[in-house]
Amino acid sequence: MKKTILAVGSVAFDDVETPFGKRQNALGGSAVFFSLAASHFTIVNLVGVAGNDYPAEAIKMLHQHRIDTTGLEIADGLTFRWGGRYHQDINQRDTLYTHLNVFADFSPKIPPVYRQTPIVFLGNIQPGLQLDVLGKLQRPEFVALDTMNLWINTTRPELMKVISRVDLLVINDSELAELTGAVNLLKGLQILHELGLKYIVIKRGEYGAILSSASGLFYTPAFPVEQAVDPTGAGDSFAGGMIGYLGECEHIDCDSLKKAVIYGTVLGSFCVEDFSVDGLLNLNRRKIGARYRQLRQMVKL
Ligand code: AMP
Repeated sequence: MKKTILAVGSVAFDDVETPFGKRQNALGGSAVFFSLAASHFTIVNLVGVAGNDYPAEAIKMLHQHRIDTTGLEIADGLTFRWGGRYHQDINQRDTLYTHLNVFADFSPKIPPVYRQTPIVFLGNIQPGLQLDVLGKLQRPEFVALDTMNLWINTTRPELMKVISRVDLLVINDSELAELTGAVNLLKGLQILHELGLKYIVIKRGEYGAILSSASGLFYTPAFPVEQAVDPTGAGDSFAGGMIGYLGECEHIDCDSLKKAVIYGTVLGSFCVEDFSVDGLLNLNRRKIGARYRQLRQMVKL
C-alpha cells in the first residue's frame, strides 16, 4: 500500500528571468514544487500558507494532482513572492527580492487527519517551525529535512535539534561545509553521521547527487537535458521525486534510497525543462520510468 507524505514549506508567486525568457506571478514555493513532483508517486498532504490573492485555479490544479490542501491555510494578505534573475551561466542566480507577506507569520497548522502521515518532508522553513511540525505528528516512519545557509547562520541550535530528529538531510556542498566546518566532503558527512543522521543527500545541480548511508556513497549524475530553461525549484522537485518514490516502498532502506535518488534526479530534470511548475504537470509514470531506465543505463558497465 502506498504511504502518504506530509510536506511543509513555502507557497509562492515567483517572478523569474532566465536567458530563455521571463515569467511573472508564476506558481512556486518549495512545498508546491515538492508536492507536484511527489504527486506522481503517492498522495501528498500539503501544509503551508498562501494569501487571499492565491488563485482558485491553482488550488484546483493541486487537487487534480492528488494533493490534499486541507493544510493549506489561506491568510488575509498577499502570498509570499520571490523574484530571481539567472545569469547567462544558468547555474548562477541573483535573488532580486523576497517579500515574505503572509509567510512572515506562518505557524504551520496540522489538521488532525494529517497527524499519522507516515512520511514527512520538512521543507526549507525556520528550524523552529520544523520542530513544531514534528512535535504535532505521531511518530512518522521517515522524516526528511531541507535547509539553507540562512538557517545554518542564524538559527544553528534549533537546526541541530531538528537534524538530530530526522532520518535524511538534503543539502548542497557549501551548506554541508558551513554546517560542519569541514571543507572535505567525507569529513563533513562523517560529522553528520556521528550525530545520528542515517542518510545524507548532497544535491549538486547539473552535476548530480550523492547519497551517503551505512552502505557507503552512491553517486548519480544528473539526467542530461537539451535545454535547462528555468532551474527554479529543481532542488524541491528532486526532493519530491526522491521522497515520493519512498512512498511506494514497503521498506525504506539503503537500496530503496539509491533508487529514490535516481527518481529525484529524473523529476529535477523535468522541472528545469520548462518555467515554473510547468515541467512537472504533463508528466506520467511512463515518461518518468523511461528517464529512470535511461539514467541507470548511462552508469551501467
Ligand atoms: P530552489 O530553486 O530549489 O532554491 O527553490 C526556489 C523556490 O523556493 C521558489 O519557488 C521560491 O518561491 C522559493 N523560495 C525562495 N526563497 C525562499 C525562502 N527564503 N523561503 C522559502 N521559500 C523560498
